[in-house]
Amino acid sequence: MSLNLPSCPLGRPSQTMNHWIPTVTLEEMSRNEYDVIIVGSGAGGGAALWRLCEKMAAEGKRIGMLEAGDPLIPTHARNLPTMTSERFQQFLYSENHTSYTSKYSSNYPDAIEVNALGGRMLFWTQISPRMDVCDLKDWPVSLDEMNYYYGVAETAMNVTKSFFKGSPLTETVIQRLHNAGFSDSTYIPMATDLKGTGNGEIHSNVFFSSLSFLARALNWSFDLAVKAKVVKVYTENGRAQGLRVMDSEKNAYTLKAKNIVLAASTFETPRILLNSGIKGDAIGHYLANHSGVRATTLMPRDQFPETLGTLGVLIPHGENCPYLLAMLDPNTWHAPEQERPFNEDVTINIGGYGKVESRYENRISLDPTRVDEFGVPMLNIDFSYSDNDQLVISEMTDTIRQILKKVAGDDNPSVCIMPIGSDYHETGTCRMGDDPSTSATNRYGQIHGVEGLYVADNSVLPTVGRANPTLTTVAFAIRTADYIVESLKQGSKSNVGVGRGES
Ligand SMILES: Cc1cc2nc3c(=O)[nH]c(=O)nc-3n(C[C@H](O)[C@H](O)[C@H](O)COP(=O)(O)OP(=O)(O)OC[C@H]3O[C@@H](n4cnc5c(N)ncnc54)[C@H](O)[C@@H]3O)c2cc1C
Repeated sequence: MSLNLPSCPLGRPSQTMNHWIPTVTLEEMSRNEYDVIIVGSGAGGGAALWRLCEKMAAEGKRIGMLEAGDPLIPTHARNLPTMTSERFQQFLYSENHTSYTSKYSSNYPDAIEVNALGGRMLFWTQISPRMDVCDLKDWPVSLDEMNYYYGVAETAMNVTKSFFKGSPLTETVIQRLHNAGFSDSTYIPMATDLKGTGNGEIHSNVFFSSLSFLARALNWSFDLAVKAKVVKVYTENGRAQGLRVMDSEKNAYTLKAKNIVLAASTFETPRILLNSGIKGDAIGHYLANHSGVRATTLMPRDQFPETLGTLGVLIPHGENCPYLLAMLDPNTWHAPEQERPFNEDVTINIGGYGKVESRYENRISLDPTRVDEFGVPMLNIDFSYSDNDQLVISEMTDTIRQILKKVAGDDNPSVCIMPIGSDYHETGTCRMGDDPSTSATNRYGQIHGVEGLYVADNSVLPTVGRANPTLTTVAFAIRTADYIVESLKQGSKSNVGVGRGES
């Protein structure tokens, strides 16, 4: 008997893919001219990429992204079922993808760079508060506009206070804090997707990373090259022209781009600018971060209901916002497959983020004698706390002691100061402002005096503020992307305004 049916086509794709994300070679990229190239795929780079792709989808613009690292993992490390708290730390500090700024300078011992697709957002803790008005009021962007872009960023990153809400431990501690006079204490806003998988929709990336920005950008089109280390930007007559980029074999390529968005981090972005001879009094200066104080205490288990839940409380405190405190439970981050340990006492960690002043003398500069494997000068980092910074640390310590006494009955907690840099919140080395003598970029993130050259990472924050920086970096990156879209539409940078509330 012969079946008169056509043969079904094989389900094989015409092309295959070597990574979990499509990439192109630098050789291929060097044959094109790009409307925008983004350098770095962390928080700022990912956000700018997504927004540019979304807004320019219909216009057929060509967008590229260059990332020095490789595609290490396809999601935030905490979304991996094998990742216990201990393995998470071991993986974060692996020398295969993480380098330490201590290689540059001894007075900045503990900052890290994650050289991988997704940058440090593969490992961040997702704490995502807005900056306070007392910080924002001195910034060059209006409060209305900041509110608008914070809203866009929070939606894009799934920021929610519900992650800790309802947890008996959190509720008890918040109640005690309110009773003790810390009335602003609230649930930590977290960039976590809490929607359940269902109706054919998969929500497996609970913990947000910039890889979700890249995934959204893939709904449209962009070229991504990995293991692509940008060493220089080229400019001519006050306009961005392109980049010099090297692959892991140290082959060099020149890529052409009308607009360049540097999002390589607070240390690496000014390094590229300085290595390119870009002029600007503020480039590399005004390095700021958060000073840190930590304490741990134990509370008897019988003070809490049988179901304990976990702890995540934010305590904004003090006039003029000198610092922010956060209370966390070290067991929050157990992996789904891991059994949660039963402890007789409940461990509570409290930490403070102290605002560090923006001072010209806190800076990065190129080392005149040492270069890295790509021939780029190494960095020197000069950093110290001012008298005022020390005062903030001292006040923060007093408040932590006061809280642990009132909330946990601990009269003598052991308190320690965190090594400089271990907040991983460094900012300011390309800060935004109206005056080119005290800021590197204008209010849209464009380097003063160089059309088409932008910065969209933590380095543009005008001051460190007291809040964790990433939400603000994402908000600024989205705003800078909107500005680039408008400028490409208009073909000229003058009179371009973006967003809401722009005067
Ligand atoms: C353990 C940990 C916990 C954290 N928790 C929080 C938190 O709870 N809340 C918060 O707000 N922040 C947190 N942070 C900080 C947060 O991760 C950073 O604020 C954020 O990632 C900064 O984004 P970025 O774009 O400036 O740089 P990054 O995320 O560092 O991305 C820079 C990217 O550029 C690439 N790159 C560098 N140089 C080059 C080059 N020359 N060419 C091409 N590519 C290059 C890098 O490989 C990297 O992928 C945490 C960080 C860590 C490490």
